Amino acid sequence: SLRTTLQAGEVLFREGDPPDTAYLIETGGIEVRARQRGKDVVLSLLGPGDLVGEMAVIDDSPRTATAIAISDTVLFPIDRSQIAERLAGTDPIVRSLLEGQLKRYRGALSALQGRGPDTAPVPMTTSERLGVNKIRLESQLREALAARGLELSLQPLLDVDRGRIAGYEALVRWHHPERGPISPVEFVALAEETSLIVPVGEYVMDAACESVARLVEAGHGHPFVAVNVSARQLSHPGLVERIVARADAASLPRGSIKLEITESQVLDYDLVGQVISLCHNHGIKVALDDFGTGYSHLAHLHRLEFDVLKVDQAFSRHMLGDPRAMAVVEAVVQLGRALQAEIVVEGVETSAQLQALRRLGCHYAQGYLIGRPRTLTDILAESPP
Ligand code: C2E
Ligand code: CA
Ligand code: CA
Ligand code: CA
Repeated sequence: SLRTTLQAGEVLFREGDPPDTAYLIETGGIEVRARQRGKDVVLSLLGPGDLVGEMAVIDDSPRTATAIAISDTVLFPIDRSQIAERLAGTDPIVRSLLEGQLKRYRGALSALQGRGPDTAPVPMTTSERLGVNKIRLESQLREALAARGLELSLQPLLDVDRGRIAGYEALVRWHHPERGPISPVEFVALAEETSLIVPVGEYVMDAACESVARLVEAGHGHPFVAVNVSARQLSHPGLVERIVARADAASLPRGSIKLEITESQVLDYDLVGQVISLCHNHGIKVALDDFGTGYSHLAHLHRLEFDVLKVDQAFSRHMLGDPRAMAVVEAVVQLGRALQAEIVVEGVETSAQLQALRRLGCHYAQGYLIGRPRTLTDILAESPP
């Protein structure tokens, strides 16, 4: 049978037994006992709906206590593979914290039972420590966000034909109180592991809209601002509506906002397709970022109506030295033209690269040659172009 039945007083498992199964109590009750300082101590009393014996199964160690039925009891055995599979699917940080806790609990218990040294502190493992550090960093990021301690950098995009700045990409910056500047590559990835990326994204969007409004006010023409959004933000309902509300609140034409979605994050075509068409309804353009570095989405590209393809710096970097890299950039420019998408080439660092891009008919160039990312204050300190 799938159930285990015990009569009052019967032992389910004993201290030291191998951890083959955990149990879910259906009816009845179980007392969990251990010997401590020579006496039998009841550690817990469990009833219907409670799990028993899962701890040893989780960390694959001998039972640390004895479980006895206190009345007639029916249990559902839970196979260790069932637990192992769920455990493997949990967040690695939570898993290593749990494993560490169990180890320390066992250490304390065996000291009480007189089986181990009296003070046997179990040190944290490397993965536990990494997990704790990540959680700490995440709390500090939350704090920085609440204190509006994140900043925006704006990197200019050159309209290649007209030879003038057409817009900026908003890049988030975090100056950590102890560690100094932390790369967005690190903390955006951290924020993406939880839904913290959503308020971070909103903050960036707010600051980006405000920045464009300030640039317009200061006579910098009507630049667009491109904002990076991650997959987790896309699946968060109301993203586009909130962007539209912000643009309207700052009295910006909606055409002045572009979203950038990184190629490697375009996994759910239907979702991305919906976001794109919603954006188009509101006059917002959408760029495919880091084009060429993700998995090959060429087969699906025709389904997604991106307005802009951003060619990753991996291609522009080698464009002049390597004819094959040049051939790729050339082909992407042509592809963009055929799909009626604008082409941005990133990572433009030399005027030779820019000349080549002009020859190819690329629309926008972005990179250190055009300008490094700078704060709005720095940009405003210069006279308008
Ligand atoms: P990305 O969107 O591809 O941004 C371009 C990155 O290339 C930026 O790094 C920029 O500073 C750098 N870059 C620009 N021109 C040049 C150049 O000529 N040479 C070289 N070597 N590098 C150049 P950054 O600011 O460190 O951002 C890294 C990534 O972090 C971004 O890649 C983007 O994926 C992510 N990120 C930044 N801000 C945000 C944000 O607000 N939200 C989200 N979701 N992601 C963001
Ligand atoms: Ca980007
Ligand atoms: Ca990029
Ligand atoms: Ca990138």
